[in-house]
Parts: sequence; structure tokens; C-alpha cells
Amino acid sequence: MPPTHSNQPLIGLSRCLTGASVRFDGGTKLQRFVMDELAPHVRFTTVCPEADAGLGVPRPALRLLNRDGSVRMVESKSGIDHTERVEGAIQTALDELMEEPVCGFVVTRRSPSCGLERVPIYRENGYRGTSGEGLLVSALKERMPLVPIEEDGRLGDEGLRDRFLTRVFTLHRWREQCGDTPTAAQLQNFHATHKSLFTAHDEGKTRELGRRLATCDATSLEDFSQEYIQEAMTLLTRPAGRGAHVNVLQHILGHFRETLERPARNALHFMLGEYAQGHVRLAPVRGLFYHHAQVAGSPWLSNQAYFSPYPIRLRGVG
Ligand code: SF4
Repeated sequence: MPPTHSNQPLIGLSRCLTGASVRFDGGTKLQRFVMDELAPHVRFTTVCPEADAGLGVPRPALRLLNRDGSVRMVESKSGIDHTERVEGAIQTALDELMEEPVCGFVVTRRSPSCGLERVPIYRENGYRGTSGEGLLVSALKERMPLVPIEEDGRLGDEGLRDRFLTRVFTLHRWREQCGDTPTAAQLQNFHATHKSLFTAHDEGKTRELGRRLATCDATSLEDFSQEYIQEAMTLLTRPAGRGAHVNVLQHILGHFRETLERPARNALHFMLGEYAQGHVRLAPVRGLFYHHAQVAGSPWLSNQAYFSPYPIRLRGVG
């Protein structure tokens, strides 16, 4: 694993995704994107609820069971109930994580401990009933509601990966720039630098946050800042479509009216039109706008997180 830096975001991982042989059958679930591409840009901490609970490797396969309306974790064959043991291991791991909160979590698909969704929940008669989430995911959502969670397999989807990484690095910037109790100036600066990014995902909500920020007084600042980051993280779960990116880039183009010569503005306008018609992808267009923002943009423009919501090398070709 390459060297990491303390100012990089801390990411939680289901331990088997690192290549560790901790699965019930002694196997692993190495996640290539995480370990090869994401690793140079973040720090990792790992949790394996079942191994941390002392159930051993290998161990009997576990499943979720609906017992009198309550979801339990039991051995698939014997029905021995390990719910308290596994939940205890999860709470211990999360207690440690509260010391330095993670900015994101990648979990293992369909695991009764770690699965994000569609984990089978069996009935007492042995048949499959409903489906739900693993015990780790339930606990994470309860104790760290801001933290984005994604499943290993879903990271192969360009859009889901983009939104996950955007939320991870936005939460990291929030913690770095604003801490737990931001001042009005810190909050205003955060909003200013994220305005274009948020607008691409949800223009209406971004305007509303801006209006509420403008009227927020010192007595409501602490409560508002918590609401602000919760709503910002939620709006980033919405896909930013082509039309939304065109709107944002058109707005940015307007900022170049005084500072950029007409031929350069025409070139940006041309590229934006090509993107709007689906002839080119977003990455080169956004890169060109970013270049001009650096050489001829206002400080507001050149600091927009929209240009680089997360490290450019993670961006693929989107
Ligand atoms: S899915 Fe979770 S509990 Fe299962 S081996 Fe991986 S980390 Fe451990």
C-alpha cells in the first residue's frame, strides 16, 4: 500500500475488501478499485464484525433471521444466535472510530454483517422472507448519519462511484475547514466554494441553503451548521445530469466576461455546446474551464470545489 498522509480522509472498510482472509470460508473479497486506485488518496481503517466478535476463521456461515419481528444473526445450519456478540463487536469498533470519524465506508455486498442492501432475511421455516441491511450498516447509519456508505460491487458503476467519492471528499473538506462548530465566516466560505458543485446536484436546495445561511444569526449558527451539512450531504446523493452541468458551466462562463479575451471565451462556448449535445464528455470540458479559472478567474471561481470535488486521478473519464 502506498504511503498516506494524515490530512487525507479516513475511510472505513469491511476488512475482507483489503484482501485479508477473514471470510467465513477463509476466503477474501479483494476490492481492486479501493486497494489500487483509492488507496493513494485516503487512509483506511478496517472492521470485520464477525472475526472481531471472536467467531473465528473459518466459521459457520451466518444469516439474518426474522424471529418474532426482530432481526437476529444466527448460524445458518444450527440456528445458534450470535446477535449480541456481533453487535457488541460493532459498537466497540464504532466507539474507536468516534475518536477520528471516518468520511466514508465501503462494505461487502450481501453479507449479513456488512451488506448495504438486499441482504436476505430468512423466516423461521427456512424460507427467504424480506431483505434488509447488515448489522454494521444499521449501526453506522445510527451513529454516523453523515457518513456515506457504499458497497464494493456498486463502485464499478461510474455514477455511483462519482457520487460516493464526491460525498467522501466533501465531508472531509467540511471537517477540515469547519470542524464541529464553524464560525459564520467558515460556514459562508464553505458554502461559497461549494456553490457550483451543490448547484449541479440540486439547484433549488442550494439556493434555499444560501438563503437560510444569509439570515442565520449567531444564536442559531450551531444548529444551522448541523442541518446545513446534513442537507448538503443529502443533496449530493442526487445525480448531476448533463443539463445541470451545462447550467453551472454557463454560469461560470459568464464570470469570464471581463477577464478572458473573446477567442478564449468562444472556445469555451464551443466546447460547452459540444458537451450539451453529447459529443464530448464532461471531464475535458470541465478541465478546460478549470484551466481558465486558474489563469483568469476570480478567487471565488478558481476555488470552486466543482472543478475538483475529489482527486482528479480517481475521476475516470466521466
Ligand atoms: S463481509 Fe464483513 S463480516 Fe464478512 S468477512 Fe467481510 S468484513 Fe468480515
